[in-house]
Amino acid sequence: MTPGASADEVDHVVARMQEVGVDARVSVGREATVIAATGERELLATLPLEGYPGVEQVLPILKPYKLVAREVSADPTVIDVDGHRLGDHWFGLIAGPCSVEYREQTLETARAVAAAGGTMLRGGAFKPRTSPYTFQGLGVEALEILRDARAETGLPIVTELMDPRHVEEVVETADVIQIGARNSQNFLLLAEVGRAHKPVLLKRGLSTSVEELLMAAEYIAKEGNERIILCERGIKTFETTTRFTLDLGAVAVLKHETHLPVIVDPSHAAGRRDLVLPLARAAVAVGADGIIVETHPRPEEALSDGPQQIPTAEFGGFVDEVRALALLMGKEIG
Ligand code: PEP
Ligand code: MN
Repeated sequence: MTPGASADEVDHVVARMQEVGVDARVSVGREATVIAATGERELLATLPLEGYPGVEQVLPILKPYKLVAREVSADPTVIDVDGHRLGDHWFGLIAGPCSVEYREQTLETARAVAAAGGTMLRGGAFKPRTSPYTFQGLGVEALEILRDARAETGLPIVTELMDPRHVEEVVETADVIQIGARNSQNFLLLAEVGRAHKPVLLKRGLSTSVEELLMAAEYIAKEGNERIILCERGIKTFETTTRFTLDLGAVAVLKHETHLPVIVDPSHAAGRRDLVLPLARAAVAVGADGIIVETHPRPEEALSDGPQQIPTAEFGGFVDEVRALALLMGKEIG
């Protein structure tokens, strides 16, 4: 719509679209209003859209993803959980243990994340482990510990949903629902969180392309949930010196293709503690909207991903380094 288009003019376009059976979503931005129409192209073609008052331009989206495409949103999407923000000029710093192991371990970590000025607390209750013989997570018991950590620190909780059978419990506790790399193309699970009224942190699969990641996000958005955070966490390549290959190019491409915030997980990409800070720095520099990092009071005792977790005693120093670079990029930790 033209910058000066009135609310009546916007409503009129939406009403005409709905009349012919096309779904219309309105995005009001700082400078412009965008109306995204999805449905049968032929139905839309019956409308003389360009002639309607207030319409500036009609733009077909030729890409396979529509609702997550940059063009359909007037401004970049900001995820805001009770004032804890991520996206646009807010840099999100999500941190916490790989797994919730026991109450004190998680509470100690949560205090360190809060003291360092982190945005949200992460912690796995249901863990997607490569081996069925390793720690699989505390399950619902961990959810209770996470609620206590939130009550004490005020940090919103990010935790993974692995199974549609756990939707109710996880959604009840999580402020942000994580979909892990191994489930990033579990389309039934994606549709399920698309119907949940909580933001979703969607990780890129180990071998999924940027386009496949955006299509996975489209599955969530199509169900009505457009509060999605995309996460680059490293992909499988021939290279074995890092646990996964952090695809920073993908972050730059995603920032170009979508209005959704894009974050980086330097912990799982690196697989080793000493590489987490350099990769986090690179994430800030490439324009990521945040990072998700693993930290543990005693990584040597961790039940999962010990080698990559930053000791909580060092976490404040880590955040100082990241914050300084974020400021240089014109961002503030949300
Ligand atoms: C995690 O965040 O703990 C995790 C299992 O990550 P990913 O799904 O990226 O492997
Ligand atoms: Mn982990």
